[in-house]
Amino acid sequence: MLTVNAIAAPSATGPLGPVTITRRDVGPKDVLIQIRYAGICHSDIHTVRGEWGPVAYPLTVGHEIVGEVAEVGAEVSKHAVGDRVGVGCMVNSCRECENCQAGEEQYCLNGNIGTYASVDRDGTITQGGYSTHVVVDEDFVLKVPESIPYEAAAPLLCAGITTYSPLRHWKAGEGTRVAVVGLGGLGHMAVKLAHAMGAEVTVLSQSLRKKDDGLRLGADHYYATSDPATFTDLARRFDLIINTVSAPLDLDAYLGLPRLNGTMVNVGAPPEALPIHVFSLFGQRTSFAGSGIGGIRETQEMLDFCAEHGIASDVELISADKINEAYERVLASDVRYRFVIDVSTIG
Ligand SMILES: [Zn+2]
Ligand SMILES: [Zn+2]
Repeated sequence: MLTVNAIAAPSATGPLGPVTITRRDVGPKDVLIQIRYAGICHSDIHTVRGEWGPVAYPLTVGHEIVGEVAEVGAEVSKHAVGDRVGVGCMVNSCRECENCQAGEEQYCLNGNIGTYASVDRDGTITQGGYSTHVVVDEDFVLKVPESIPYEAAAPLLCAGITTYSPLRHWKAGEGTRVAVVGLGGLGHMAVKLAHAMGAEVTVLSQSLRKKDDGLRLGADHYYATSDPATFTDLARRFDLIINTVSAPLDLDAYLGLPRLNGTMVNVGAPPEALPIHVFSLFGQRTSFAGSGIGGIRETQEMLDFCAEHGIASDVELISADKINEAYERVLASDVRYRFVIDVSTIG
């Protein structure tokens, strides 16, 4: 086993701080990655604070990981020492169920193994990317194109694929109108990706505070949801609404916005249940949906799409001693648009 430096949460309430953790020995199909950067996802905060259920402490989170291959197992064929690689939200799955066979490992019927806080095959609890090294099966390691700067690539592994996958599934593109609810880590990627796919993009944000940013990122229109006129002006306008907000919303109001056969898909995850009137779905044969990350093949497709279109995440780089402060700023929506940890400052 390898002992490596990491940052961990000691409990649901204690501040994150430096620790050492162990990584398994590099197996025949494993890749050892020297992590360079790790993004801070809202899910990290929900998880360490126990808001999505109990977890074992101490826990190292982080599932937006980029770095270099430092060592490969004897049977590894997809990656070589020195390659630029990434790891997202999962590190394994059963590979045998129909969803895995279809390349939708995120929907593994036997449960995919999350990058952190999951029970790994050897019975240990997986530990995430706020760490100097990680050992991952080669099939769950992505190639990060050279043209994407490392730190700006990290958030693509969660925020990027989480928005790319529903945009593709519901066929955003030329001639479609896409609304993005919330301009945070997920939302700013949804805007860039939908714009690059050729859709007409509208941001729906609480206020007009980030309007200039929204337009710069690729939005065609920008509306404040605090203004009730927004919901009448935009009634029956959109083919697809991507809701990135992980806090309660008046869903019935938003369900007045899709046009015939339109869909509202949720990728933000509020801990509490939200009410909805089924009547809101009848008028325009509206679909209300959810989507979780993307498969490995689609994640690679997303990275290649970003390289081809010259897009990546807008990031604020921080050192490891600023993680607790960054968490508070994420919760206050005070980040443009993703915090990324410089992993060289860990340890
Ligand atoms: Zn995430
Ligand atoms: Zn499976």
